[in-house]
Amino acid sequence: RTVYVNGDYLPENEAKISIFDRAFLMGDGVYEVTSVLGGKLIDFEGHNRRLKRSLDELDMPHPAVLDDLLDIHRELVRVNEIEDGLVYLQITRGAPGDRDFAYPDPDTPPTVVLFTQSKPGLADNPVAKKGIKIITVEDLRWGRRDIKTTQLLYPSMGKMMAKKAGCDDAWMVQDGFVTEGTSNNAYIVKDGKIITRALSNDILHGITRAAVLRFAEEAQMQVEERNFSVEEAKDADEAFVTSASAFVMPVVEIDGVALGDGTPGAVATRLREIYIEESRKVAV
Ligand code: PMP
Repeated sequence: RTVYVNGDYLPENEAKISIFDRAFLMGDGVYEVTSVLGGKLIDFEGHNRRLKRSLDELDMPHPAVLDDLLDIHRELVRVNEIEDGLVYLQITRGAPGDRDFAYPDPDTPPTVVLFTQSKPGLADNPVAKKGIKIITVEDLRWGRRDIKTTQLLYPSMGKMMAKKAGCDDAWMVQDGFVTEGTSNNAYIVKDGKIITRALSNDILHGITRAAVLRFAEEAQMQVEERNFSVEEAKDADEAFVTSASAFVMPVVEIDGVALGDGTPGAVATRLREIYIEESRKVAV
């Protein structure tokens, strides 16, 4: 596999970054994940906008390479022959000489890394036909979840708690209300109404979320952006999650409680179809 590191395209085993890199020492980095369908990028502009916002929120300078990111994504998709898959991008505050909590001089060159993952048949993921089972866990992350940082340890722990419980993923809960999934935004459907937490610093502003809510409204579905509790979720008709890698993924069980008849719901299934179809049309 070919990866991109600070201006170079290299075989992955030749790519190197410093042990003093601030993402390694402090989690001081941001990232993005963009999906690829039919060799084209889904919602590249949305991810690019959020990337800039993440950099701004952390006072990280915009590297000049930001202007070339579309070309770099496309080149990696081409050389790695990605038909369906994902492109990961990480930008860190670089590797200043000395370890220090204070940010280094803004002229410190950032570390910019991109790599791909091939996921043949991403749009026809058989898991979407069955739906996923989730558990709920307390949301113990920091308070700026709207910034897409590389500090992913707690979501990783949540995923492991789910696995141990024989489930696929975890929804995180703050003050009794669901914030989001370990790596996705969370939704329930009750009496035809789609309910999802409103945007704030408590959740990542999902690029897939924005598109799905737009498609839902265009399809005359009702959308309510508000907090929902774990009890309300267990009592819902259906549930689902959204992310760049899962698109729209039905949830069929929460903490052992089956939703509806325990199979993917009609709203989630329809939104998945619409999302994939419409996204393909405008992919770049
Ligand atoms: N919330 C969290 C915590 C995530 O990690 C992700 C995916 N990276 C999302 C939501 C979904 O965001 P997007 O639709 O932009 O992939």
